[in-house]
Amino acid sequence: MIEMKGVQKTYSNGVTALHGIDISIDQGEFVYVVGPSGAGKSTFIKMMYREVKPSGGSVFINGHDIGKIKNRQVPHLRRNIGVVFQDFKLLSKYTIYENVAFALEVIEESPKKIRRRVMDVLDMVKLKNKARFKPDELSGGEQQRVSIARAIVNNPKLMIADEPTGNLDPETSWEIMKIFEEINARGTTIIMATHSKDIVNTMKKRVIAIEHGRVVRDEQRGDYGYEA
Ligand code: ADP
Ligand code: ADP
Repeated sequence: MIEMKGVQKTYSNGVTALHGIDISIDQGEFVYVVGPSGAGKSTFIKMMYREVKPSGGSVFINGHDIGKIKNRQVPHLRRNIGVVFQDFKLLSKYTIYENVAFALEVIEESPKKIRRRVMDVLDMVKLKNKARFKPDELSGGEQQRVSIARAIVNNPKLMIADEPTGNLDPETSWEIMKIFEEINARGTTIIMATHSKDIVNTMKKRVIAIEHGRVVRDEQRGDYGYEA
C-alpha cells in the first residue's frame, strides 16, 4: 500500500532530512518508526500524507505517486488517511462531538447517519458520555482518544501517528495502544513513530529504525533497539 523509492528530502534551509529511502509497507501492517531525535522520523511519516513533498524519488500510496498529485487532490488523499499527533490538535472552542464531526467527510449523508457514525466512533474510544464536553475538560488520555476517533471517523485504510503517547503517562499510553491494536485488527494499516521502548518491545511488531535520514534497520517483530 505504501512504497517509497529513493525518497530524499532537503528542506529550504539546506538540511537533508532523508537520503534515499526505499521501503514498502503492506495493507494491514503495524509498523513502529524509531530512531534518535532529528533522525528524520517525522519527515518520513509526513511524506505519507503529503505534508512534506519529496525533493527526489517517489512516494506511492495504493499505486498513486503522491508527489505528483495536484494540490486540489490532497484533501481526497487525506480523507483516506487518519493522522494522530503528540499534542492532539483538537479545536478548543468546539465540543468533542463537533471535533469528530468536522472531520467526517460528508458525501450526501443524512444527519441521522452522520450522528450515528460520530457516536459510534466515540463509543469505540469510550467517550460517548463526554460528547458535549470541550477538550480542556478532558484528561490528556481522553483528548488523545478524541483525536483517534477523529482520525478513524472516515474509515481510513491507513492511520499515521507521530509520538501519540509522547505526552501521556505509561498507563494511559497502554490504553491508547489497546485502541490502536483494535483499529489494526480491523484491517487498518498503522504507522507510528515513537520513543517508547516499553511499547515497542512489548508489542513485537515491525520496526523501522531511521538514523541520519537513512533506514538502518527493518525487522519483523523487532525491538526498540536503543536505551530509553
Ligand atoms: P525526527 O522526527 O526524527 O526528530 P525530523 O524529521 O523532525 O526528525 O527532522 C529531521 C531533520 O530535518 C532535523 O535536522 C530537523 O531539524 C530538520 N527539519 C525538520 N523539519 C524541518 C523544516 N520544516 N525545515 C527545516 N528543517 C527541518
Ligand atoms: P460495533 O461493534 O457496533 O461495530 P464498535 O465499538 O466495535 O461498534 O465500533 C464503533 C465504530 O468504530 C464503528 O462504526 C466502526 O466502524 C468504527 N471503527 C472501528 N475501527 C475502525 C477502523 N479501523 N477504521 C475505521 N472505523 C473503525
